[in-house]
Amino acid sequence: MPTVPSLVMNNGIEIPQLGFGVFLVPPEETEKAVADALSAGYRLIDTAQGYGNEEGVGAAIAAAGIPREDLFITTKLTNSEHGYDTTLAAFDESMKKLGLEVLDLFLIHWPLPMFDRYVETWRAFERLVADGRVWSIGVSNFEIQHLERLLAETDVTPCLNQIELHPEFPQDELREFHAKHGILTESWGPLGQGKGLLENQHILDVARRHGRTPAQVVLRWHIQLGNVVIPKSVQPERIRENIDLFDFELDEDDMQAIAQVRTGQRLGADPNYFDRR
Ligand code: NAD
Repeated sequence: MPTVPSLVMNNGIEIPQLGFGVFLVPPEETEKAVADALSAGYRLIDTAQGYGNEEGVGAAIAAAGIPREDLFITTKLTNSEHGYDTTLAAFDESMKKLGLEVLDLFLIHWPLPMFDRYVETWRAFERLVADGRVWSIGVSNFEIQHLERLLAETDVTPCLNQIELHPEFPQDELREFHAKHGILTESWGPLGQGKGLLENQHILDVARRHGRTPAQVVLRWHIQLGNVVIPKSVQPERIRENIDLFDFELDEDDMQAIAQVRTGQRLGADPNYFDRR
């Protein structure tokens, strides 16, 4: 079974550099998909209140019999629950569904700047850490100006920011800001969400050079950038393929070839305008 390296967050806690995402995995398929991921060696599982599948994640964890300290479970506050008391109540709900005493990482899913509540929400996140309910807290889809506000107005620096990131949209500016402030970068949509990235000629060329699949080359690129990466698949062979990354390395020419893929275009929503609750 591959051993996944860890990165150390700004609170001294380690996070596996590769995890398993369950966005759009139907609730009834989630337990099996997570069980397959755990048997393949994944220890970080990334879910969200909004995915509607936290119970399936909890069931797979309970059945796996893996020591709790070896697992790293992330969930995210859903958009409708921004605010201090609503955050605390939504957190309790997640913990029931996941069947956990303490969560590893809780994220604000989207900043929703048009409602201007993420600072208040973050105060509730700080309270959850102080109360020993969660080890680490972070954000998702935050842009530089949103992070700057948290840094200026609150006490705890987010451990990481989970953002859309892949070779077409490599987020250089935000990654630089994260590095300067000790915030890890976690890539969502790392494989380009099945929308053509894995058929790009530059990616195919690098894959052929290494005798690897396009998905492995792209995931290896994330690892070498220093990102935490959370690919999703429900197919057992792809789940195993996506963790089999730690016995080859891309060289400078490969990294340059992958850089050619950049379009600068997002595949998902723009966090400045995304307001769905
Ligand atoms: P992804 O880039 O991981 O793409 C998943 C798709 O890629 C699969 O459905 C499949 O079609 C394809 N795929 C997977 N493995 C493959 C392989 N080995 N070969 C060929 N094709 C393969 O996209 P994602 O699921 O959107 O992102 C990963 C995770 O990130 C999610 O599951 C979720 O946990 C998280 N996420 C977070 C946010 C957020 O707003 N914070 C948004 C989207 C996703």
